[in-house]
Amino acid sequence: MQAIPVVTIDDLIEGYEALLFDAYGVLVHSEGPLPGACELLARLRQIGKPFYLVTNSAAHLPEHAAFRYQRFGLPVEPEQIISSGALLKPYFAANNLQGTRCAILGPEDTYRYVQQAGALAVPPAEDFDILVIGDQVGFPFLESIDTVLSRLISKFDRGLSPPLILPNPDLIYPKASGFGITCGSMAMIIETVLKQRYPDRADTRFVHLGKPETALFEEAARRAGTQNLVMIGDQMDTDIRGASRYGIDSVLVSGGVAELRFYAHHPEWWPTYRLPHLQHSL
Ligand SMILES: [Mg+2]
Repeated sequence: MQAIPVVTIDDLIEGYEALLFDAYGVLVHSEGPLPGACELLARLRQIGKPFYLVTNSAAHLPEHAAFRYQRFGLPVEPEQIISSGALLKPYFAANNLQGTRCAILGPEDTYRYVQQAGALAVPPAEDFDILVIGDQVGFPFLESIDTVLSRLISKFDRGLSPPLILPNPDLIYPKASGFGITCGSMAMIIETVLKQRYPDRADTRFVHLGKPETALFEEAARRAGTQNLVMIGDQMDTDIRGASRYGIDSVLVSGGVAELRFYAHHPEWWPTYRLPHLQHSL
């Protein structure tokens, strides 16, 4: 396995104009901050170093996410949060999906994101034109998946092709007690069932909006006003692969979802550096 150079946070502060952080597995887990995160963001704020949270979460509007992070002790403002939920609006506009009935698997804020995108957000029990998976909570899980699957099968049987949209392709996320499944795993259940029933159809896959697609990085560069950015993440196939696709450097932090030792055969997703922890000296 290729040796990945180790960096410190000080190296990153010195080497790049703005820092991009993934949230889950880097700064927070589902119940609180990760070690060193509060001190690091407080220091960045104090020295005036621009930073943004580039997150695949579509479960919270930026103002609610910021409030939540602030309660954890992280000094983050809403305008520093770039979430995959916010990509729904430009996607709906580009694909003429405003005014459609959009079923949501997710909490209240996913409904808000879809409403902001100009569609009518409905619960999974109601008929729909398109489907968005926004989170793994906020609805009765099994019952809702079954309902959505039944409706999708009915539509596909009639030759319809309802758009399937996945802002957050992450499969798992870190919890205080281990890991939990999230949106990408839910989409895989639906895709697997549809693929089995309709093996010759090409429209049974979800469209992915978040990392490793480049839209979140494009928005980060726009807000930061520079391309001299570095992405600090814990997932190889979203954070690191996405940064590589967009053409910026990346850093894999230890202790999150991915461990480098399991990725010996994926050189195209390789991080520029690795960071053992968020504290400012080794
Ligand atoms: Mg993460």
